[in-house]
Amino acid sequence: MITEHVNRIPVHLDGKTIYDIVLEDSFGALAKEISALGTEKKKICIIVDSNVADLYLDEVTKILSGCCREVTSYVFPAGEENKNLKTVQGAYEHLILNHYDRKDLLVALGGGVTGDLCGFVAATYLRGVDFVQIPTTLLSQVDSGIGGKTGVDFDSYKNMVGAFHMPKLVYTNVSVLRTLPDDQFSGGMGEVIKHGLILDKEYFDWIQTNRAKILAKDADTLKLLIQGSDFIKREVVEIDPTEQNERATLNFGHTLGHAIEKLKNFTMLHGHCVAVGALAAMNICKERGLVKQDEIDAYKALMEYFSIPTCVSGLNTEEVIAATKNDKKMEAGVIKFILLDRVGHAYIDRTVTKDEMERALATIFR
Ligand code: NAD
Ligand code: ZN
Repeated sequence: MITEHVNRIPVHLDGKTIYDIVLEDSFGALAKEISALGTEKKKICIIVDSNVADLYLDEVTKILSGCCREVTSYVFPAGEENKNLKTVQGAYEHLILNHYDRKDLLVALGGGVTGDLCGFVAATYLRGVDFVQIPTTLLSQVDSGIGGKTGVDFDSYKNMVGAFHMPKLVYTNVSVLRTLPDDQFSGGMGEVIKHGLILDKEYFDWIQTNRAKILAKDADTLKLLIQGSDFIKREVVEIDPTEQNERATLNFGHTLGHAIEKLKNFTMLHGHCVAVGALAAMNICKERGLVKQDEIDAYKALMEYFSIPTCVSGLNTEEVIAATKNDKKMEAGVIKFILLDRVGHAYIDRTVTKDEMERALATIFR
């Protein structure tokens, strides 16, 4: 882990930098970063949900107006239930009526819902236009904003329709996390801690040491936290940009986590489901002699500190296991499970048995 501040993290593909993740604690450098993309003669459409529009749309519109020909915005109602083709259609209509062409730019201002949706619109409008991510939730700053996975839900199927489409820039202003509801911050911490577990023990330890400053949303500490997570996410997506293999390690905790999320009818935050799923997976690792009980205890203490639930109620083993079978992590009938061979290193395992899953689930059921 690097503990000095880095304001720019380049993301590479085939040895070339394809975009930068810029880390700031204000929107002060946004004009310069956007202008550097050559936007002077372009139009910019900001895609934003209703909550984030109320908080930041005026400020961002004003800044972007100074960097291009014209700025318009497409505001959609906040919430995962609107991450669908109907909202995409509304965005296409806005772009067509406002005469957006292939050279123009879209900006996703918001959390993962906005980023995934705007990215998908950018990937498909006129066969692909450029877009920029301005992630405003912890989850989107450390996870969904990076890597170019875009898409929307279809009926009850999550992320069923999508495309890989890389942003031109990810501009992260950590100070917007101050307005983020506490539960959303806590959910994001689930994914942040997961990054430490799968790839960087030092980062995991650093989170433990700095937990009070993280919770207090101290700007300098948040920058280091997000930077640490971004380095980890970057490492994985650079090795495996289209999720053929290595990128799957990011799915630690997700096999059981997704099943729980679905059975709870999406009433539990994704980051919380994943964190609990990771806790169960760590029990499998412990049984296999790969991690120790005190390491599980340390993880659990950190979950509690960030108000992440450490158990779930109202579910039974059979239904959770049945639900994992419908997960996208199935490959030719074999379940692809991510385990840790030690804290700080994950691997893909195809040998997890039903018995192991049952015992692991017993440790997280209340
Ligand atoms: P979200 O975008 O719905 O944001 C959560 C809530 O916080 C919303 O109500 C939003 O309006 C509000 N909000 C956002 N920023 C705020 C701020 N600064 N202050 C106050 N309120 C703010 O949810 P999310 O957790 O950011 O993202 C979840 C989505 O991300 C899911 O759809 C998931 O599938 C997707 N995802 C994608 C990837 C990927 O690689 N593309 C990875 C993980 C998750
Ligand atoms: Zn996740």
